[in-house]
Order: sequence, then structure tokens, then C-alpha cells
Amino acid sequence: MSSFKIGILGAGIGGLTAAIALHRAGHDVVVYEQSKQFLRVGADINLTPNAVRALDGLGTGIGDAVRRTAARPTHRISRTWNTGEETSRLEMGDTAEKKYGAPQLTIHRADLLAALADVFPAERVRFAKRAEAISEDAQGITITFSDGSTDKVDVLIGGDGIHSAVRSAMFGKESPRFTGVVAFRAVIPADRVAQVPNLQAFTKWWGPNPESQIVTFPLNCGKDIFIFATTAQETWHLESWTTPGSVQELRDSYAGFHPDATALLDACDEVLKTALYERDPLPHWSKGRMTLLGDASHPMMPFMAQGAGMAIEDAVVLARCLEKVTTVDGIADALHVYEELRLERASKIQVGSRGNNWLREGGNADWVYGYDAWAVPLEAETV
Ligand SMILES: Cc1cc2nc3c(=O)[nH]c(=O)nc-3n(C[C@H](O)[C@H](O)[C@H](O)COP(=O)(O)OP(=O)(O)OC[C@H]3O[C@@H](n4cnc5c(N)ncnc54)[C@H](O)[C@@H]3O)c2cc1C
Repeated sequence: MSSFKIGILGAGIGGLTAAIALHRAGHDVVVYEQSKQFLRVGADINLTPNAVRALDGLGTGIGDAVRRTAARPTHRISRTWNTGEETSRLEMGDTAEKKYGAPQLTIHRADLLAALADVFPAERVRFAKRAEAISEDAQGITITFSDGSTDKVDVLIGGDGIHSAVRSAMFGKESPRFTGVVAFRAVIPADRVAQVPNLQAFTKWWGPNPESQIVTFPLNCGKDIFIFATTAQETWHLESWTTPGSVQELRDSYAGFHPDATALLDACDEVLKTALYERDPLPHWSKGRMTLLGDASHPMMPFMAQGAGMAIEDAVVLARCLEKVTTVDGIADALHVYEELRLERASKIQVGSRGNNWLREGGNADWVYGYDAWAVPLEAETV
């Protein structure tokens, strides 16, 4: 085991992936999470082949665990909102697996978290630890939690999401921006809408304006269908993953859409409504012995479906950069290499996700889906 202690703030998707990879590499890792326990909050996570291959490489049975609960979309289809015309159809499933070494999987966020949590020692996750203040000196990094306790670590990784306390400690406080777009999320049983074609595909209905779209794909081994619909809205005051929305408002917002799309909305009993927030790319992610990953460094719009994928890729590359570091002296350099390797790709996808046009007319997804976080050479280079 290395002679230093790594703290990870946030037991989310990126934080837990990093914890597993670093623990497996022999590091002393502790994860601090503000929640009292893992909660079944949220709904979908879309794992494109780049994310699934990164999870498979953890080699701890996670790949098998996620495949047991996820669905495996057959295609990625684009359709025009009112006419229903198909403007692109990419094969996913076996074709993607053959091409990229892993399939696309769509999974409930809680099932993904459970698969990750199952292979990381439970005693190394400290729940109900919300970081309120973070300071660094020559002896290390001190984290002060909202319960008044403190802990000291030699390296601190901010996997603490869009409102990251680690990010504020490094670069000053600055709030995420409301994008003027809200999202409805709903899950319905597949057998309730069995008449709708292509239910086991990832289908995107491109709306009449850039903010307007409906995305549907299977969840829970195909037994459920997930609906993710976005639309413009001028103001929003509450940021939450659990705020209920109105099913009537959902139906009214997409009233002119093709019957194959509205049939899914008609089948909804309940819906969640979330505002979408984002930030601009950062020029640096690391400072001293602190660094960021996932939404803490690059929160993005969902239009390329890469939020979780980028967090997982970050985690793997970061763990690889720290793998051979055995004393505190090598940490800052390793974090610098990590930032050099990841910042350009993640920023490009963060900015690209703003324009809602990814794969609209088909096209080549290789630069996103073909990335292998386990094979990227560990020297500074661009994507
Ligand atoms: C409750 C929840 C539900 C979500 N549901 C969905 C969904 O349905 N679909 C979707 O696409 N995306 C969802 N997301 C976002 C998605 O997980 C991320 O966009 C993406 O996976 C990047 O992951 P991440 O690990 O960077 O951040 P996250 O997955 O957001 O994880 C951040 C973690 O840090 C913890 N944390 C934050 N601040 C502190 C602090 N000060 N001290 C200690 N811990 C802290 C949070 O509780 C969380 O566990 C959800 C996020 C959360 C937190």
C-alpha cells in the first residue's frame, strides 16, 4: 500500500469508480459522501461503449453486474418530431460491441451505483459527511464536515458533482448557470406501450427548436421504457433530482409530436421535472494535491449523453496516473499529467453538448465511443 492517504469527496458514479480503481492499485482510499446512505434517486444513466469498456476494465465483476440489470439498446434512431421521418439509424448492440469492444447499456443510476458499491469495501465509505470547508498546507489537506468533524488526507479528489466544494476551494466560488432548458423524466412499463415500434432502441425525436426533444430507451433489461424530454423554459428556482412534474404539462409540451412519441407520454402516470445547469470549461482541474473529476470539473448538457461516461473515463485515467506514485512527492506531477490527458477531450464534449445536434443526421461517433481510458498512453497528449 502507498504511504499516503487519498480522500475522495462524493460517492457518485465518478467518485466510486475512482475509489475502486485506486484501491485495486494498492492505495489507501477513503470516500466521504454527504448522503446518509445510497438512495434510489434519479432514473436513467446512458452508458455508451466508451463508458462500458472503462467499467469492464475495472475487472471486479462490475461489467457482469451492470449487464444483469441494464438494457442493451438495439439501435440509435433519429426521428423528426411531427412527421416521424427517420433521419438516421445506427446499429448498437452486437455491432457496437464488435466495433468498440463494449455495447451501449442503459441502466438505472441506483443499479449502477449498487454495482460499484458492491466491490468497494463498505468501511471505507463515510456517509453523512458533507464537506463544508477545505484547506491545504504543507502537511496535507484538511476537510471540515457539516457535523463539525475534520479529517486529513494527502490527496483530495473532488467527485462531488456540479456544486463541488473541492472546486470552490481550489478556484473560488462560482455558481452553475441555468441553461433555460428543463427536462422531464418518466419510466413506464414496456408492455403498456407494446404497440409502439422500436421500443428496444434508443430513439431521439428532434423537436421544432433546439431545446425541444424526446429521447426514449429501454431500462431494466427492457422491461421498462425511459422517457427523457427537454424543452425551453425562461426561469427556474429549484435544482433537484426529485421534484415531481405535471403529467399534463408534459403532454401539453409535446402535443404536436408524432403519435409514436405521444403514445409514450400518454402512458405516463408520473413524471419528474429537473432544470438543466452547466458551467464553462475550466482552464485547469488540479491545484497542489487536489483535483476534480466528472461533474465537479465539467458539468454538461445531456445532448451527447456523456455526463456519466466522462466521469468514468476521468476516474480510470486518474487512477492510472496515480498507480505508480508511492510517496507524496510525486502526487502533484501525476495530477498534472491526468489533467493534460483529460481536459481537452472532456471540454470538447462539454462544449459540444451545448449544441443539440450530436448524430442528428447519423455520422461517425468513433471519437467518442472508441476511446479506451485503459489504453491512453500516460504522457501528456491531446485527443
Ligand atoms: C441524486 C442524483 C441523481 C441523479 N440522477 C440522474 C439521472 O437520473 N440521470 C442522469 O443522467 N444523471 C443523473 N445524475 C447526475 C449524474 O450522476 C452525473 O451527471 C454524472 O454521472 C457524473 O457523475 P459524478 O460522479 O461526477 O457526479 P454525481 O453522480 O452527481 O455524484 C456526486 C456525489 O457527490 C456528493 N456530494 C456533493 N457535494 C458533496 C459535499 N459537499 N460533501 C460530500 N459529498 C458531496 C453527492 O451526494 C453525490 O453522491 C444524478 C445525480 C445525483 C447526485
